[in-house]
Amino acid sequence: MGRIHRLPPHLADMIAAGEVVERPGSVVKELVENSIDAGSSSVTIEIQRGGMSYIRVTDDGYGMSEEDAKTAFLRHATSKLTDERGLESIKSLGFRGEALAAIAAVSNVDMLTRERGSAQGVSLSLSGGELTEVLPAGCPEGTTIIVRDLFFNTPARLKFMKKDSAEGANVTSAVIKLALSHPGISVRYIKDGREELSTPGDGDAASAVYAVFGREFFSGLLTAEASAEGVDVKGFVSAPAAARGNRSAQYFFVNGRSVKSALLTSALEQAYKNSLFTNRSPACVLYIKVKYSAVDVNVHPAKTEVKFLYERAVFDAVYSAALAALAAEKGQSAKVSPVLPETGEQRQSTAPVQKDDKPHFLRLTADEYKQSMGANLTLRDAPAEYRTGSQNITPDTQAVFGAKKGADKADVSTKEPRVPDYTNYYTGIQLPEDHSPEIREKAAPPERKQPDLNLTAGADYKIIGECFDSYIIVQRADEIIFIDKHAAHERINFDRLKNQASAPMSQELISPAAVKLDGEDAELLLENIGILEEAGLGVEDFGSGSILVRSLPQGIGYDEAQALIEELAEAIKLGGRPGGLGSRDEVLATVACKASVKAGWKTDPKELVPIVKAVVSGKVKYCPHGRPVSLAMPRSRLDRTFKRT
Ligand code: ADP
Ligand code: MG
Repeated sequence: MGRIHRLPPHLADMIAAGEVVERPGSVVKELVENSIDAGSSSVTIEIQRGGMSYIRVTDDGYGMSEEDAKTAFLRHATSKLTDERGLESIKSLGFRGEALAAIAAVSNVDMLTRERGSAQGVSLSLSGGELTEVLPAGCPEGTTIIVRDLFFNTPARLKFMKKDSAEGANVTSAVIKLALSHPGISVRYIKDGREELSTPGDGDAASAVYAVFGREFFSGLLTAEASAEGVDVKGFVSAPAAARGNRSAQYFFVNGRSVKSALLTSALEQAYKNSLFTNRSPACVLYIKVKYSAVDVNVHPAKTEVKFLYERAVFDAVYSAALAALAAEKGQSAKVSPVLPETGEQRQSTAPVQKDDKPHFLRLTADEYKQSMGANLTLRDAPAEYRTGSQNITPDTQAVFGAKKGADKADVSTKEPRVPDYTNYYTGIQLPEDHSPEIREKAAPPERKQPDLNLTAGADYKIIGECFDSYIIVQRADEIIFIDKHAAHERINFDRLKNQASAPMSQELISPAAVKLDGEDAELLLENIGILEEAGLGVEDFGSGSILVRSLPQGIGYDEAQALIEELAEAIKLGGRPGGLGSRDEVLATVACKASVKAGWKTDPKELVPIVKAVVSGKVKYCPHGRPVSLAMPRSRLDRTFKRT
């Protein structure tokens, strides 16, 4: 007998489960997607102990007959795909027919379902994939699936589960994406007996976003809209002032499916290139519609990534939508108005998109693409015959945005240099805790003066000045030294934090700041509370994804708390990756960066002195991420250049 044999079906299902059902959040995702595919108008999700002990999903969709209900748990059993032609344009969220089989293989499942129009329903029980009971049942139309004791029969997988609170946070972020993806479906979410979320299901994306994130997030949004070359984009992007410390508030939906995509992120961020500072990321909830045949959803086990047939059209549409929203905000503060992602044509956005109220379509040059996508990426262009339908390119819009020489400054207003408002960024001045407007006024930085050379009198170097608000120029012996003021200051702060870890310099806040975080970030920060304390931050759990900041590291103002906390979540994630500094150092580097003078900002000359001192003494050579902080140019080189030798 040969050594190779086929796996028994139950073992194959358990292996497949590893791909589809990674953790409770993925079970919830699959079950709710089935409810959406079943034409439901309301879906309730309930979990206990992070979903490890109990997950219930109830919908009012079309339900299943007894026969279908039994078949549904077989591997590759689906009602959504019949032949390979179907695979080329998938309209449903599911299509592989593996989720129910995979979930049932690693848990105890009860299902109650009644087909629409049928007199009675059926109840099924399965354990480890084996059908144990089928009974007629009285129940409402629709389907309820209860999943208990996830991974009870796969101890290896069970070991990889995080604390219940972390798994619960992951379920919450899955539910948020599902609720946003279909504003026409009312989604209710109950966690450990408490209602965490409930969307009205009125078909209005604005209502869904408001219900999920609340007023503060909502009020920082601008309506965004663009369409061309068979791609429609509608939704919201954040005003620059409402940008975040990381990307966790970027939500993209392609034909109703939540996706992660480097292409979409780049397109969005390219639009903010001149509006945001480094380390800030825009937030968005964007609904992208493309022809089903122009997107491949079968490229990832969890179907969270997609491949676009014509990437460039998609890039351009997202970029244009965001840029137009930003331009409109500059013109006048755009009011967020409801948008219907499914039937958006019926309702027009009231945001003043452009002067003539026609969404313009913008394109980057090939070089700009390369820059924003990484050099190796080429974007496929849509062929001419494809560019039909919601086509918005007109010769005159191309004249405005396409040709370089014709670029009209009034329209492409985001290209203007940004005038920084540095009230809150000014290092060294601690805003008093009540930070009333009058006090802020007083704390505002002074006008820029020429450096007072007396400050360094007696030293063996002289500060000549500063150029581009970024580089300090110093003369010493027979060399000129250029210092990157931010990089050097960052290093100084980093070293200070590292060396005083036992008693970090921090300041207690009189009124603690509550910071609401996205997704699982609060959980992540709370797991790393020790590291935060070392960096001078006092935080505690404030419930429902929020944390309370009681003290901040020295040099960081109250108003920066939110941004700092978001960036710290990102730092902890980064720290664990290859090439990262490790979570602790990444956190210290983030605090050091935040507490440092910024390139491009005006800095009081007095503040430059300690930076220069540290650099000329040779103590500071590289920033925490290894970039050099200074460049020395010997006089001999100047002399040679000017032929003085
Ligand atoms: P897929 O979604 O890829 O088809 P699943 O294993 O998730 O595969 O589901 C198998 C089948 O069970 C679906 O094709 C559908 O016919 C049926 N089904 C699953 N969940 C529901 C539900 N909530 N309501 C109605 N039918 C459902
Ligand atoms: Mg499915």
